This record gives sequence, structure tokens and C-alpha cells, in this order.
Amino acid sequence: MTNTNSIKELLTGNKKGETVNINGWVRTFRNNQFIALNDGSTINNLQIVIDFNDYEDSFLKRINPGTAIGVEGELVESLGKGQTVEIKANKVEIYGDSDPEKYPLQPKRHSLEFLREIAHLRFRTNTFGAVFRVRNSLSFAIHKFFNERDFVYMHTPIITGSDAEGAGEMFKVTTLDLENPPKNEEGHIDYKQDFFEKPTNLTVSGQLEAELGAMAFSKVYTFGPTFRAENSNTSRHLAEFWMIEPEIAFADINDDMDLAEELLKYVINYVLENNIEDLRFLEQRLIQEEKQKPQNERSDMPLIEKLKFVLENDFERLTYTEAIEILLRSKPNKKKKFKYVIEKWGADLQSEHERYLVEKHFKKPVILTDYPKDIKAFYMKVNDDNNTVRAMDILFPGIGEIVGGSQREERYDVLLERMNKMGVPADEMQWYLDTRRFGSAEHAGFGLGFERLVQFVTGMGNIRDVIAFPRYPGNARF
Ligand code: ATP
Ligand code: MG
Repeated sequence: MTNTNSIKELLTGNKKGETVNINGWVRTFRNNQFIALNDGSTINNLQIVIDFNDYEDSFLKRINPGTAIGVEGELVESLGKGQTVEIKANKVEIYGDSDPEKYPLQPKRHSLEFLREIAHLRFRTNTFGAVFRVRNSLSFAIHKFFNERDFVYMHTPIITGSDAEGAGEMFKVTTLDLENPPKNEEGHIDYKQDFFEKPTNLTVSGQLEAELGAMAFSKVYTFGPTFRAENSNTSRHLAEFWMIEPEIAFADINDDMDLAEELLKYVINYVLENNIEDLRFLEQRLIQEEKQKPQNERSDMPLIEKLKFVLENDFERLTYTEAIEILLRSKPNKKKKFKYVIEKWGADLQSEHERYLVEKHFKKPVILTDYPKDIKAFYMKVNDDNNTVRAMDILFPGIGEIVGGSQREERYDVLLERMNKMGVPADEMQWYLDTRRFGSAEHAGFGLGFERLVQFVTGMGNIRDVIAFPRYPGNARF
């Protein structure tokens, strides 16, 4: 059937009394009479009422959970509970059967672990339907935010020849025969014979290229996939994830923090305005899930209240040095409850420390700035104290680090010295250094991990449940 309506349109629009067409997948079929149909446009099903006298028994038996059907009928007021309208069907067409003995999705609650095993079908559940509609809205809102502010959307390369980004372990890209690679005179692999005539990798970040863009367009952002071959089996890390990386010229670290805070609030607000039904469902799901946890591990606030709380409060901004003082004085540090006890200034913060600051101490999002230069990347601007750099990380409750950013070092000499000290091959990176030789200017930017944002907004505990087909150590299925 062509020229169909969506269920979202029929439930919210004003089509009562009209003859309508819809397509979708059967969720349930009761009493040979009531079909709950879902087409993915909304969390809500539309009820289809059929008169079983109009159909053969063999036809009715084919209407099962998962069956794809098309319906034509009149949209009428519903007498039943739980819906305002329903369709009185004139015509039902079956497009694709679904054998109830074999269909893995039964009309009952399935565990997230089980659904991860059948990720190709999990979109058809309420939970994943909601998660991926929210993900879609967040993605749209990000583009809308930047577009309204005259940012240029840049596509930075996925395959990169620079191994200097330093943000994580990289995946190699090669067409060489791994069984029998060509060797040079020293007995090393001869990359001259490889596709690009040099070693290449999948990108871990588009930042360096985005900086080049910012030096011409003033304001740019990237939004694309990034890859890290880090063997971290956590609920916050993926081997393939999406990152948003704005870069702004004529801007310092304070402008950078303002931009990040404004962006996060804007996209959260967008979802509250456009996906409230999905959020209500996800909130209930989380409440159910947390009932199995001990009281002290449950969230302080229901999901929607937590999102509104982020909107309504300024993020707490403090320096790394101030954070270390708080941590040194904290109970878990004194009682050695942290896995990594903080001994002194200079320590790298682990997620347990970040979460203590956000969840126990401040109880709101936190922006930490001015980290020791030894634990941060070469491109960050060195402060006048010559000890710290203008880095800023945003920490969110339940997530930990959601944004990592900095003001960039725009002084050629200082940058070159840092690169040399940190073993970054300056000769291979003349293209990057050129921006500091010709019309250099203050600039800043950050990386926002898209899946961590989706996790925060949906309340999903595991990052593998907010990307369609997650890649992580030992898994590249689907
Ligand atoms: P972490 O300390 O959590 O590993 P990072 O310091 O390596 O993060 P950055 O290199 O600053 O992170 O990347 C910017 C953002 O990208 C992070 O703030 C986070 O939101 C996200 N991110 C980083 N690594 C991953 C990953 N493996 N999977 C998903 N998101 C990630
Ligand atoms: Mg990392």
C-alpha cells in the first residue's frame, strides 16, 4: 500500500473520520480482533480492530508478533482504554510473515544482554525504539544548534596518515598481504609498497584538521565516526564511536566552556521538547531496572527531572588544582576507598575521582580546567605558570567525562618545543604548524562523545545499548 500515514501522525493529528492507510509490524494480536501495530514513528502502538468474520482462519493465524502488514480503514474514536483513536479495518494485507515459534522477540520483557545478541531485531522493542529516536533527535539538534550559529560543518578524513593525534590506540589500515608483507632492507615492513605508500590508520579525532578549518571559517564543527583500538571493556568505551568536535577561532578557554555548556543544554532541551513520550518510557524503564539495585546505587532523580536539573543549573567550574584539594580531603581518599588513592598534585584523575566530584561533592555537572601539562596533549595552550595547560573536561553524573577540550597553543615556538619534548614528529606535521606561521590566532575546541551524550539523555547504563551495532573488543558482529 502506498500513500500511507505514520502512526505518529494519526495519533497526534486530526484525521478522525477519514479513511487512512498504515503499514507496520504487529506487536500483539488479541482475541482475533485487536492488533497492536507499531511502525517505529512513535513509542505508541495504534490499535487496529478487525472483524474476524471477514477473514479466513488461515489468514488470521498469520497475524503474529513481528508480521509486517498494511491496513486500510477508518480512523475512529476508541472506546478502549489507553488510546484515543483506533482504526476500523476494511482491508488487511500481509507483507511478510513472522513465525511465532521462531521469532525471538516475545511480547514480554527481555534482558538488555539478550537483546544485544539480536541487535538486528532490537529496534523493534519499546526500549530500543525510544533510544534510537532520541539518538536521532540529538543528532538533528546538534546540527541545528551549529547551523543557527553560522558554524561550517566539516568532514574530516576517516583514514589518516598522521599518528600524532595521540588520543588513543589506532587501528591500522593497509592493503598489504598480512601473510607475507613486503620487507625493506632493514627487514621491516615496506610501507612504500602499501596503498598510500606510508602507514595509515583510522582516525581517533578530527581535531587537527578542524583547527585548520577554523583558521579560515572562524567556526567549524565535525560530527563523524572515530576509532580507538583501546582494550577497555567498560560501559563507557567503544572501539567505534561518534564525536562532535567544534573548533572556534578568536576564542579562549572560557568561550570554549560557554559553547560546550550551551550546546549540551540546547540539545537536552530539544529532546525534552520533541521526545517526551520516549523519555517517559525510558524513565519508567530505569526505575524498574534500579529496583534491583541497592538503594545507594540508584539515581537521586528520575530521568526527566535530572535532564531539567542540568538545564536549570550552571555547571560548576573549577581548576584541576582545586579538584585535587577536594579529593585529598575527601573521605574515600583518606580511608583508601578509591582504587587509585590520590597522593599529590599531578595525579591523573580516574573515573572514580571524577564521579566523586560530580555525584557526591557537587551533585551537578562539573567543568575542570587547567590540568598539569604532563598529563595532557601537546597542542594545549601552556599557562603562564608553565606547569598547567588550558584544558577543560566536562564531567556528568553517571557518565564521568563527556567532553574533553582545550584552548590550543597558538604560539609557534611554544608549540614546536612542546612537540619536540613530547616526541611528536614536527617534520611530518608542517601542515599543522603552518597555521601558527601564517595568521595564527587564539582558538579553542572540544570533543563531545556522542554515545556518552545519548547515554546520559536516555539513562542507558551501557554504551553498547545506544549505538546500533556496537564495536568493542571481541565483537564486530552485524
Ligand atoms: P576517557 O578518559 O573516558 O577514555 P578520553 O580522555 O580518551 O576519554 P578524549 O580523547 O578527550 O577522551 O575524547 C573526547 C570525548 O570522546 C570524551 O570526552 C568522551 O565523551 C568520548 N570518548 C572518548 N573515548 C571514547 C570511547 N572509547 N568510546 C566512546 N566515547 C569516547
Ligand atoms: Mg580514553
